[in-house]
Amino acid sequence: MALNDNPTPTNNEWFVVCNRELILRTDNEKMQFADIEKIKSLCESDITAFFEEKETGIGVLSLKSKQNLPQGYTGKELRLYFAENDEDTSAKAFRAKALAEWRQSTVFCAHCGTKLINSQTFTAMDCPACQRQYFPRIDPCVIVLVSKGDKILLARHVQRNQDIYACIAGFVEAGESIEQAVRREILEEVGLKVKNITYAGSQSWPFPQQLMLGFRAEYESGDIALQRDEIADAQWFDRNACPACPKPGSLAHKLIYGKY
Ligand SMILES: [Zn+2]
Repeated sequence: MALNDNPTPTNNEWFVVCNRELILRTDNEKMQFADIEKIKSLCESDITAFFEEKETGIGVLSLKSKQNLPQGYTGKELRLYFAENDEDTSAKAFRAKALAEWRQSTVFCAHCGTKLINSQTFTAMDCPACQRQYFPRIDPCVIVLVSKGDKILLARHVQRNQDIYACIAGFVEAGESIEQAVRREILEEVGLKVKNITYAGSQSWPFPQQLMLGFRAEYESGDIALQRDEIADAQWFDRNACPACPKPGSLAHKLIYGKY
């Protein structure tokens, strides 16, 4: 696969990404190349990337602001878009957002500082000076639903999404296995030991570049002890009486509502 920085009218599915939003037509029709050209001409100073990936059939225009967006278009939070669409429909939008994020953050060679150029062979950026190659980066994260009999453990975070209770989650640290990350995150955040860790499923989460790896685990020992700088509250809940939880379209929702 490779990216082309001079897209032309094709059968691509076209996406306009602006930060955490997807720009859509207000009449709910599919974005066409004519829409892309119109937005491009009016939002010229806001463009951060414009490319197509022929193998996957996606074309992406990335904007840093929607201040110059013409009438007839509106932004929609990507999380809501994912919640409202099935996985197959969302898959291309996930990749469009992931590639847009990668393109914006991968400009110079981390080794020698030279400006990178688009690879002609791969979806990658090449350093013309030292020949290093930079592929889209993915950060693995674990997300775990801990159960204790009929109860499940849900936690409310201090900083993100303070209005909902969710599963324990965190980045896999360098040098660590995924199973170790699961045990460490639960012990760090709520002070519990778990057993019988089983894999449930995964999901791309391009905010900016996570790969969420979902697990179930059973309570083994310990009392809930919160990591106060990260977790505001954590409790055992009855599955049928959960508080406000993550939206459909997220791995957390599937874990909590038993869809895995
Ligand atoms: Zn270099």
